[in-house]
Amino acid sequence: MKLLRVLPLSKELLRQTVEAGEIVIDATAGNGNDTEFLAEHVGENGHVFAFDIQQQALDSTYNRLSSLNERVTLILDSHANVQKYITGEVGGAMFNLGYLPYGEDLSIITEPDSTIKAVERILGMLKVGGIVTITVYDGHIGGDIERDALLDFVKNLHQRDVHVIRYELINQRKNPPFLIALEKMRSFTTPRRVE
Ligand code: SAH
Repeated sequence: MKLLRVLPLSKELLRQTVEAGEIVIDATAGNGNDTEFLAEHVGENGHVFAFDIQQQALDSTYNRLSSLNERVTLILDSHANVQKYITGEVGGAMFNLGYLPYGEDLSIITEPDSTIKAVERILGMLKVGGIVTITVYDGHIGGDIERDALLDFVKNLHQRDVHVIRYELINQRKNPPFLIALEKMRSFTTPRRVE
């Protein structure tokens, strides 16, 4: 295989582990790129729940999806509240952290506490063998704080419960994103942490 860039690799991981007909989550809808990919991949019997705290992002996602909107539920709420909206097993999930590109207010960013809460809750809902991808941007104000808190959280997840990888192109300039991917290894509602 070729060395994929971060976003293509995140999609490839989901492509290989999510089956048609499953329920999946786009935790940060943004402009809808991942929502569109996931909706195409799960097919007409699958469903995507896409979260964003900005109406502008959900509008942008809605406009991008056209007929795929039938397989997507857009939710104007924090991904930390994911359990209010989804019951049952989830086949996979994607996060794309940071601010909304081309958004009106670039100071609205994903925050450490809600990001970590959402990752932990989604891991609980995930099927065994399912993957959560997190594309991490740390070049904006506050991005470094979120990055460090998230790395601290995922590094201490118990290896029997979750396998965690970090992937990045290390000779790229200008704050490129890096990828964290988590694979659920056994059934649990809350992953154990190593103290
Ligand atoms: N940095 C990426 C895009 C990130 S978009 C890029 O350059 O392509 C991140 C989205 O997450 C934004 O639209 C933002 O509104 C949304 N967001 C921020 N906090 C959130 C939360 N708690 N729950 C769900 N979405 C959130």
